[in-house]
Amino acid sequence: MTQRTDVVVVGGGQSGLAAGYHLRRLGVDFTVLDADTAPGGAWQHTWDSLRLFSPAAYSSLPGRIMPAQPGETYPDGGHVVDYLADYEKRYNLPVQHGVQVQAVRSDGARLRVETDAGDWSAGAVVSATGTWARPFVPAVPGRDIFTGRQLHTVAYRRPQDFADQRVIVVGGGNSGAQIAADLALAGVDLTWATQRPPRYLADDIDGRVLFDVATARRRALDEGRTDTRGVASLGDIVAVPPVRAARDAGVLAALPMFTRLTATGATWADGSHAEADTIIWCTGFRPALAHLAPLGLRGPRGHIQTEGTQAAGESRLHLLGYGDWTGPASATLIGVGRPARDAARQIAQLLST
Ligand code: FAD
Repeated sequence: MTQRTDVVVVGGGQSGLAAGYHLRRLGVDFTVLDADTAPGGAWQHTWDSLRLFSPAAYSSLPGRIMPAQPGETYPDGGHVVDYLADYEKRYNLPVQHGVQVQAVRSDGARLRVETDAGDWSAGAVVSATGTWARPFVPAVPGRDIFTGRQLHTVAYRRPQDFADQRVIVVGGGNSGAQIAADLALAGVDLTWATQRPPRYLADDIDGRVLFDVATARRRALDEGRTDTRGVASLGDIVAVPPVRAARDAGVLAALPMFTRLTATGATWADGSHAEADTIIWCTGFRPALAHLAPLGLRGPRGHIQTEGTQAAGESRLHLLGYGDWTGPASATLIGVGRPARDAARQIAQLLST
């Protein structure tokens, strides 16, 4: 049997909840379908020591300020999970957990949402599936002959799992720096390989500043002024306390990227070699958009072209939270509120015509 609703929101992480908050305020009938069996989106799967790069109040969704975490300026992932679980309950958002959306396809005037728990018919769909489900690992020569363990950021939990191992962490972004710092501070035998020398943001720059800079960039682009390059001009790595501690203790030195893996380790262009038991790929993510394939909207780099949050060529579909291409700072806790509001308004308008 097919269930009917005005809007299906695919994904119940922060982006899906922010969309739900605004749809509810506009009186739109909607359902959120979320593959995870518990609230919290990707935050419930991150490593133990992960810290937000902004204080709690600057990591809030619309309507409810994130309370401070006692004793912590920068909250941990567990605190975000608690906040999102409370948010879902507080606003009585209709989230069905443990439902995997397999396909969204056009069905006359409506969209058909196919899941592992039956089908839905909706007038509009918000896709808010994040990136955590699509880890990216680059095609490095020798990757298939390395006999040790290889894992991606998504599978890393704590340094104790790597005690007595030789570990190579690959990647010079925030995940790479935080995981390398976590291992280094725990005394694990670490090699950190980055494509270019790590670029730390100044110690007094955190997510608050990044959000302001991203907003200013969007404004400049909207007004046809010169591209400021936004946060990319400031650096790549937010110096959260553990990263700063490891860097200042001199245990966070990076090597250039190796040229290939061997059966037992990695080799660099100058001929040097490091033996390794484990490679941790902190090499990013891609948007999880496989369920939208039947709509045939994906362009170069796997993105779907959008006008704001609305998919170009499919006015019944909005995308939220994947990155700046779906709204300024849309892939952050504080930044998703505004694009979520815009998406909900456009959807309400579409449904009323
Ligand atoms: P997610 O949290 O990934 O939620 C997506 C939801 O969709 C999940 O619950 C998943 O189960 C569900 N889903 C996926 N596919 C399907 C499907 N086919 N059917 C049904 N459900 C599906 N942002 C900040 O503001 N501050 C930070 O400090 C910060 N730190 C970050 C650190 C890391 C390591 C990473 C990776 C990101 C960080 N971000 C940070 C960015 C961003 O806030 C997070 O990535 C956040 O999880 C994005 O929320 P989301 O709701 O868009 O996606």
